[in-house]
Amino acid sequence: MEIYLDNAATTALDPEVIEAILPFLTTHYANPSSAHSAGRRVKEAVDNARRTVAHLLGASPEEIYFTAGATEGINLALSGAIQAYDLSHVISSRIEHKAVLQTLKRHEKEGDIETSFVKLDERGNVDLYHLENLLRANPRTLIALMHGNNEIGNVTDIQAIGLLARRYNAVFFTDTTQTMGKVQFDLAETDIDFLVGSAHKFHGPKGVGFIYIHKKHHLKPLIYGGGQERGQRGGTENVVGIVGLAKALEVSYRNLDASRSKVCKLKQYLISKLAISGIEGICYNGESKSIENSVPNVLNVSFPCLSTGSVVAKLDQIGIAVSGGSACQGGGASHVIQALACEADKENVRFSFSKFNTFEELDLVVNAITRIYESDPALSAHTGWKRTASWA
Ligand code: PLP
Repeated sequence: MEIYLDNAATTALDPEVIEAILPFLTTHYANPSSAHSAGRRVKEAVDNARRTVAHLLGASPEEIYFTAGATEGINLALSGAIQAYDLSHVISSRIEHKAVLQTLKRHEKEGDIETSFVKLDERGNVDLYHLENLLRANPRTLIALMHGNNEIGNVTDIQAIGLLARRYNAVFFTDTTQTMGKVQFDLAETDIDFLVGSAHKFHGPKGVGFIYIHKKHHLKPLIYGGGQERGQRGGTENVVGIVGLAKALEVSYRNLDASRSKVCKLKQYLISKLAISGIEGICYNGESKSIENSVPNVLNVSFPCLSTGSVVAKLDQIGIAVSGGSACQGGGASHVIQALACEADKENVRFSFSKFNTFEELDLVVNAITRIYESDPALSAHTGWKRTASWA
């Protein structure tokens, strides 16, 4: 049995994506920069992929640049903007992905920038009044605030932040890795300067992503080479990845409402099953329990008296894949949970769903968790857990 509930870490390839990329693994392997017709055919596929992504996001093709994933896009957005515009102040938050936090740390260490962290409430929501105060005090700032949080699922109001950015002449970068393919974007109508996406989070291949750079900007490149991606990112294009990314995004947006509705129901189902499991004192971290204020596929749970490591390991032993916070944490305490003032020491488990999960799988997961309590008398006594006749 394999139950995969770690879809915020990565997702399975959609069958339509596999079908779309196969010809580029077999027949169409020419270099898109080659002048011959085989090369031109492949270049056309890359151009089509760019047009598809742009069309789906309300951007123009010239604003889409392919990368090797969101981490690269984030590095390009932050370092590229800081260097291209000589920015010396960044506003970010303590719950950003490490790709943002580590990039900012490096620039701070090198004396390029100073970072202000916006206040968060106890559930990790950005304090927009504090953000405005920071912007007022620091003209010409780079804002780096994510859209959907990968650990606790919080969704940030990027429309409101975009408006503030315009009002205070700031540059706004948002990490949309966890929301891309899950919510609609209309970039022609939003005040976002840069955003990034990563194909493997929406049933596309790993190691490929894109950055949207508003047409009024040009970033200082990270990677110099043969002038690919209009000089913004050198190196032969990952054609298979790019074709797969565009197909995955197309499939996601074609099925957006159905997928969202299913994943919301899965989340609500798991919450309701846990509520009647008899385990007392379960907590939900951040906004993850809220359907309105979080990405639908993330549920971050603290189980009484159980460490992150023990839940993840015990479920793994019986073929259930979940994670402790995020895949990139490497076993350490979650910096996101630590940033939520009242939840600093909480052990937590992240369940993250996809359209491929089933309600039956969630029944098995809840049974497995109740068995963890049942098998340890100290645990069941402590939590007040009692096996009821209905579970016999
Ligand atoms: N940003 C967020 C919010 C993420 O969840 C991730 C992946 O976990 C990344 C960035 C990094 O993405 P990639 O794996 O494409 O480098």
